[in-house]
Amino acid sequence: MTETIPQPRTEVAADQLEDTAPESAKPGLLVLSPLRLEANAVRRGLTQPTSRVQHTGMGATRARKAAGKGQLNSFRGGVVVMGTAASLSDDLRPGDLVVATEVSDGETTVPLPGAELLAAELRRAGLTARAGRLITVQKLVKSAERVRLAAAGYAAADMESAALVAAAAGRPVAVIRAISDSGFGPGMVTGGMAALRSLRAAAPVAEKWAAACRERTVLLAGPRSFCAGVERAIEIVERALEMRGAPVYVRKQIVHNTRVVSDLEQRGAVFVDELGEVPDGATVVFSAHGVSPAVREDASGRGLSVIDATCPLVSKVHAEARRFAREGYTVALIGHAGHEEVEGTLGEAPESTVLVQTAEDVAQLSVDDPSKIAYLMQTTLAIDEAADVAGALRDKFPQMRAPGSDDICYATTNRQAAVRAVAAEADLVLVAGSANSSNSVRLVERSERAGTPAHLIDGATDIDLSWLSGVSVVGLTAGASAPPAVVSEIIAALSGLGTVTVTERVTTTESVQFGLPREVRRQPEPQPQPDVAS
Ligand code: SF4
Repeated sequence: MTETIPQPRTEVAADQLEDTAPESAKPGLLVLSPLRLEANAVRRGLTQPTSRVQHTGMGATRARKAAGKGQLNSFRGGVVVMGTAASLSDDLRPGDLVVATEVSDGETTVPLPGAELLAAELRRAGLTARAGRLITVQKLVKSAERVRLAAAGYAAADMESAALVAAAAGRPVAVIRAISDSGFGPGMVTGGMAALRSLRAAAPVAEKWAAACRERTVLLAGPRSFCAGVERAIEIVERALEMRGAPVYVRKQIVHNTRVVSDLEQRGAVFVDELGEVPDGATVVFSAHGVSPAVREDASGRGLSVIDATCPLVSKVHAEARRFAREGYTVALIGHAGHEEVEGTLGEAPESTVLVQTAEDVAQLSVDDPSKIAYLMQTTLAIDEAADVAGALRDKFPQMRAPGSDDICYATTNRQAAVRAVAAEADLVLVAGSANSSNSVRLVERSERAGTPAHLIDGATDIDLSWLSGVSVVGLTAGASAPPAVVSEIIAALSGLGTVTVTERVTTTESVQFGLPREVRRQPEPQPQPDVAS
């Protein structure tokens, strides 16, 4: 699958786009600033010799004319409109920065994807910045008009951005406006020292943004994102909320992803660390990572109504632990200390199970009967690292028994193979997933072991623009607990930095599905019975 996501386009007069001097076209940053004071503030903050500032004049007509005659014509790098603006939002203060998610002149609206990415970079630079909708107006906004525009969802108003964005169409373009006060015009600038200081401080960030701008390819790893166990766990909480009403308590994060957890929280799920936080008699869902028998007993003793969202593939490992322990084996559990899944599996047979994390742990390991040892694995390990530890165990205990089938689950295996395939072709790999997601962290490690730098991000705003400088091919995947929507969000954000061509590399397809526990199965609708003549 290949799809090209171009820069947003608007109708522009032909003379504004004509490239009169292609040989002089240079990458880098061109800042368009309406007022001389704004242009000077930005100029003082710039650090790169290739960065340029063009003063365009106040108001849409002047700005459009100046942009049409100026450096913009021969420029093919990143263009940032930087100036001051009037706040339309009560929570914006002088000096705060608004990065436009879209610019409208009331008739035409141009989306500016990637605004969140730039706003996040400004925040990382210590500035107060947010992404928001910007409206370009023709004259000072009176109070009634301000109320109307604010109600329409605009964060700020200016007098030039729509015209300048139109003039820059076809290039990567962004708009950074610093809030000066609640009205605008010449008087705004004299009262807007905070805004000018913010523009100056934002200038190096605009340079960083411009350095990240280029056409690029995104290689999507397939499969990626939700696995069957995660889909099932989320559906269990959704159905519990629907069938029993809020609140529904969930012990630990249902899956290790901040987006999923906050979405379910907004719908009435209450996440707790321990059962002691759940009121007597309430409904509690056990997470996909599983729990130890001690937790089940505690819930039962408290009279809690339990719905178990443990992934069936984790339950399989628990069953193997019980079986080996029953048969008198010492179980060497290969996994990461402190992970919830490992704690749950260790709890199945605590007297008989020992955790081994590395080959060094194996060297230290001594058991009563070396002929009666078996190994199991956490489901989300890196395949090659786990194989190294299992190999060390086998060398030391040649009679060691293995689980009936692989413990590292199909989803972990498939996502690791897929990320390896895109890492081989990419300059950089982005992995959507949360920091506590074991399988997502393994995808980063897998890519790095293949020699390609990789970063774990919860969403597009975690992308540091410096990662993208000089990067033409981005590999993109998502851990088994990361929602597919995050992948779309990341692609949209990257498209704000230049045309993006999306190509998918599918190493395998998945069709695994798990049934739901009976507590959340819907009863079939009763079918109307036909009348039967007696
Ligand atoms: S990653 Fe594997 S074990 Fe974990 S929930 Fe998904 S399918 Fe189950």
